[in-house]
Amino acid sequence: MYATPRTFPCPNCKEIINDSTTTCRFCSTEIDPGIAALVADQQAKANQACSDASFLRTTAAAMFVFLGLSMIPFLPFVYWGFLITFLVTAVLLIRWQIRFGTLNTSDPDYQKAKRSRNIAALLVLIAVPIGFIIRPLLDVIISRML
Ligand SMILES: [Zn+2]
Repeated sequence: MYATPRTFPCPNCKEIINDSTTTCRFCSTEIDPGIAALVADQQAKANQACSDASFLRTTAAAMFVFLGLSMIPFLPFVYWGFLITFLVTAVLLIRWQIRFGTLNTSDPDYQKAKRSRNIAALLVLIAVPIGFIIRPLLDVIISRML
Protein backbone atom coordinates (compact mmCIF):
# COMPACT_ATOMS: atom_id res chain seq x y z
CA MET A 1 0.00 0.00 0.00
CA TYR A 2 1.06 3.53 -0.70
CA ALA A 3 1.07 6.41 1.74
CA THR A 4 -0.94 8.53 -0.66
CA PRO A 5 -3.43 6.62 -2.78
CA ARG A 6 -2.91 7.15 -6.48
CA THR A 7 -5.85 8.01 -8.67
CA PHE A 8 -6.84 6.48 -11.96
CA PRO A 9 -9.97 6.08 -14.10
CA CYS A 10 -12.18 3.08 -13.29
CA PRO A 11 -11.77 0.45 -16.05
CA ASN A 12 -15.54 0.15 -16.26
CA CYS A 13 -17.07 3.61 -15.86
CA LYS A 14 -13.97 5.85 -16.29
CA GLU A 15 -14.73 7.81 -13.12
CA ILE A 16 -11.60 8.79 -11.19
CA ILE A 17 -11.05 6.46 -8.23
CA ASN A 18 -7.99 5.63 -6.13
CA ASP A 19 -6.09 2.39 -5.67
CA SER A 20 -6.89 2.02 -1.96
CA THR A 21 -10.38 0.72 -2.77
CA THR A 22 -11.36 -2.76 -3.90
CA THR A 23 -14.61 -1.69 -5.53
CA CYS A 24 -15.39 1.37 -7.64
CA ARG A 25 -17.45 3.80 -5.59
CA PHE A 26 -19.32 4.94 -8.71
CA CYS A 27 -20.30 1.72 -10.46
CA SER A 28 -19.42 -0.86 -7.73
CA THR A 29 -17.27 -2.88 -10.11
CA GLU A 30 -14.68 -4.94 -8.27
CA ILE A 31 -11.19 -3.60 -8.82
CA ASP A 32 -8.38 -6.10 -9.08
CA PRO A 33 -5.50 -4.65 -6.98
CA GLY A 34 -2.94 -5.80 -9.56
CA ILE A 35 -4.78 -4.10 -12.38
CA ALA A 36 -5.41 -1.08 -10.17
CA ALA A 37 -1.67 -0.74 -9.51
CA LEU A 38 -0.92 -1.11 -13.21
CA VAL A 39 -3.50 1.45 -14.30
CA ALA A 40 -2.49 3.85 -11.52
CA ASP A 41 1.11 3.46 -12.61
CA GLN A 42 0.22 4.34 -16.17
CA GLN A 43 -1.86 7.26 -14.99
CA ALA A 44 1.09 8.58 -12.97
CA LYS A 45 3.29 8.20 -16.02
CA ALA A 46 0.76 9.95 -18.24
CA ASN A 47 0.57 12.82 -15.75
CA GLN A 48 4.36 13.05 -15.76
CA ALA A 49 4.37 12.97 -19.56
CA CYS A 50 1.96 15.91 -19.60
CA SER A 51 3.88 18.14 -17.22
CA ASP A 52 7.18 17.28 -18.92
CA ALA A 53 5.71 18.03 -22.34
CA SER A 54 4.39 21.43 -21.28
CA PHE A 55 7.82 22.27 -19.86
CA LEU A 56 9.34 21.08 -23.13
CA ARG A 57 7.10 23.39 -25.12
CA THR A 58 7.99 26.33 -22.86
CA THR A 59 11.70 25.66 -23.36
CA ALA A 60 11.23 25.43 -27.13
CA ALA A 61 9.36 28.74 -27.10
CA ALA A 62 12.12 30.38 -25.05
CA MET A 63 14.66 29.05 -27.54
CA PHE A 64 12.74 30.70 -30.36
CA VAL A 65 12.59 34.02 -28.53
CA PHE A 66 16.38 33.89 -28.11
CA LEU A 67 16.77 32.99 -31.77
CA GLY A 68 14.60 35.92 -32.82
CA LEU A 69 16.51 38.35 -30.59
CA SER A 70 19.84 37.04 -31.89
CA MET A 71 18.88 38.33 -35.34
CA ILE A 72 19.39 41.82 -33.99
CA PRO A 73 23.07 42.66 -34.57
CA PHE A 74 25.39 43.47 -31.67
CA LEU A 75 23.58 41.43 -29.04
CA PRO A 76 26.23 38.70 -28.76
CA PHE A 77 25.08 36.99 -25.58
CA VAL A 78 21.58 36.38 -26.88
CA TYR A 79 23.00 33.84 -29.31
CA TRP A 80 24.46 31.92 -26.36
CA GLY A 81 20.99 31.94 -24.85
CA PHE A 82 19.75 30.35 -28.04
CA LEU A 83 22.51 27.71 -28.04
CA ILE A 84 21.81 26.74 -24.43
CA THR A 85 18.02 26.58 -24.79
CA PHE A 86 18.45 24.70 -28.08
CA LEU A 87 20.59 22.06 -26.35
CA VAL A 88 18.22 21.80 -23.38
CA THR A 89 15.19 21.45 -25.66
CA ALA A 90 16.89 18.77 -27.78
CA VAL A 91 17.91 16.77 -24.69
CA LEU A 92 14.46 17.07 -23.10
CA LEU A 93 12.86 16.06 -26.38
CA ILE A 94 14.93 12.89 -26.60
CA ARG A 95 14.35 12.11 -22.93
CA TRP A 96 10.59 12.59 -23.31
CA GLN A 97 10.57 10.31 -26.35
CA ILE A 98 12.45 7.57 -24.48
CA ARG A 99 10.34 7.78 -21.33
CA PHE A 100 6.88 8.51 -22.70
CA GLY A 101 7.01 8.08 -26.47
CA THR A 102 5.31 4.68 -26.51
CA LEU A 103 2.96 5.09 -23.56
CA ASN A 104 -0.16 3.00 -24.06
CA THR A 105 -2.91 5.16 -22.63
CA SER A 106 -6.19 6.64 -23.78
CA ASP A 107 -5.72 9.63 -21.49
CA PRO A 108 -6.75 12.70 -23.52
CA ASP A 109 -4.12 14.75 -21.67
CA TYR A 110 -1.48 12.41 -23.06
CA GLN A 111 -2.68 13.21 -26.58
CA LYS A 112 -2.26 16.88 -25.73
CA ALA A 113 1.21 16.12 -24.38
CA LYS A 114 2.09 14.44 -27.66
CA ARG A 115 0.94 17.55 -29.51
CA SER A 116 3.17 19.69 -27.27
CA ARG A 117 6.05 17.36 -28.08
CA ASN A 118 5.33 17.69 -31.81
CA ILE A 119 5.34 21.49 -31.54
CA ALA A 120 8.65 21.41 -29.68
CA ALA A 121 10.14 19.02 -32.26
CA LEU A 122 8.95 21.25 -35.07
CA LEU A 123 10.47 24.34 -33.44
CA VAL A 124 13.79 22.50 -33.05
CA LEU A 125 13.71 21.46 -36.72
CA ILE A 126 12.99 25.02 -37.85
CA ALA A 127 15.64 26.41 -35.50
CA VAL A 128 18.43 24.27 -36.97
CA PRO A 129 18.73 26.01 -40.38
CA ILE A 130 17.95 29.46 -38.97
CA GLY A 131 20.20 29.22 -35.93
CA PHE A 132 23.12 27.36 -37.46
CA ILE A 133 23.16 28.54 -41.09
CA ILE A 134 21.27 31.79 -41.58
CA ARG A 135 22.28 33.39 -38.28
CA PRO A 136 26.07 32.76 -38.68
CA LEU A 137 25.78 33.86 -42.33
CA LEU A 138 24.25 37.11 -41.14
CA ASP A 139 27.31 37.62 -38.93
CA VAL A 140 29.61 37.19 -41.94
CA ILE A 141 27.57 39.59 -44.06
CA ILE A 142 27.51 42.23 -41.32
CA SER A 143 31.24 41.94 -40.67
CA ARG A 144 31.95 42.37 -44.42
CA MET A 145 29.78 45.47 -44.54
CA LEU A 146 31.66 47.13 -41.70
ZN1 LIG B 1 -16.50 2.45 -11.96
